[in-house]
Amino acid sequence: MKNPFHVMIIPTLGCPSKCKYCWSSEEGSPIMSVETVHEIVVWLQDIPRDRVTFTFHGGEPLLAGADFYRQALPLLADGLAQMHPEFAMQTNLWRMTPEIADALAAYRVPIGSSIDGPEAITDSQRGDGYYQKTMKGYGIAKAHGLDVRFICTFTNKSVKNKEEIFQFFLDKGFTLKLHPALPSIRSENPKEWALEPSEYGELLVYLLDQALDHMGEIEVMNINDLCRCVFVRRGSVCTYVDCMGSTFAIGPDGSIYPCYRFVGMPEYVMGNVADRPSLETLMESPAGKLMLAFKDYVDTACAECKHIKYCRGGCPYNAMAPTPGRIEGVDPHCTAYTRIFDEIGDRLNREMFAAPPMEMGGFGMPSVQKPAKKEKPGVMTLMRRNAMR
Ligand code: SF4
Ligand code: SF4
Repeated sequence: MKNPFHVMIIPTLGCPSKCKYCWSSEEGSPIMSVETVHEIVVWLQDIPRDRVTFTFHGGEPLLAGADFYRQALPLLADGLAQMHPEFAMQTNLWRMTPEIADALAAYRVPIGSSIDGPEAITDSQRGDGYYQKTMKGYGIAKAHGLDVRFICTFTNKSVKNKEEIFQFFLDKGFTLKLHPALPSIRSENPKEWALEPSEYGELLVYLLDQALDHMGEIEVMNINDLCRCVFVRRGSVCTYVDCMGSTFAIGPDGSIYPCYRFVGMPEYVMGNVADRPSLETLMESPAGKLMLAFKDYVDTACAECKHIKYCRGGCPYNAMAPTPGRIEGVDPHCTAYTRIFDEIGDRLNREMFAAPPMEMGGFGMPSVQKPAKKEKPGVMTLMRRNAMR
């Protein structure tokens, strides 16, 4: 089965915010032209895929303005109708306007935004005033019918307040997606904010417990994804599949990269949309070869790991960040992945063996049972619930 084809469009690397752990703000960065969007369409018309998801990412994609989206969205949707395009956007929402919201609502673009918890915690990591500016944009997006979900970056500092942060998301009725602060290839002090892998693993277990305790009250997207990975034995988000060859990012000038995380670094340019490279040509570039080398490396380095099918060594960017661009290990979050995959697998096994025959799908005669005492829902209940939605 082919992995979903995902093209990230980075209209600019500029961003009005200065989050303390972010590596992608660039002052005065150029903005993608509509001609480049047209080149993206022409390039993809020859790519043999029948589905595509476009994510507008940054930098801050709203800096491109309403006119850009009024033109780009129909160009992509109509010009690539044979690929059934779907859209998404990752934005801090500061520059959301009614005009942009209208343009996005016409194509039902779901929004991923970022807040790190209550105002004081968010602003301590992302800068004074961040929270209020994002909430103002959130109000505009909601008023125009846009679906907004929040990504919460946990740093080695904010993880100490994980209970307060979880409660904030619960009280607000926000869906929670966790993002661990990463070491950056570009930073001089790459680990200043980074969440240690062992802390990340314990945080995931904490969120698993919370998601089960509060089932029906809050969605914790990572927990849904991780449980699904273990249950179907296949990754369902990019970190846990071989993203190389099925995910690309297009920078403001039409340069093609393996992922948004590499955009702006010339050594990771694989080609340019104006030249209409085939996917094979892209993967023959030095950056393409590096990504494929990571896949081969994982086949050996993780060969003995029972989670290899639905982890695939994690994210290649994470793996190469500590050793600027060299492959010397898998994703350093391996410790966290092992911790949470083991935990979910163990719980699933316990629940399967504890379940009565009918619940396991067996055909035994139902036995007379004592009234069940109310128990905390388990991973299987969560999976069933998600499958029914
Ligand atoms: S490099 Fe990492 S973040 Fe980028 S697509 Fe691959 S797994 Fe996802
Ligand atoms: S958990 Fe660790 S060893 Fe296992 S596949 Fe993932 S990165 Fe490799």
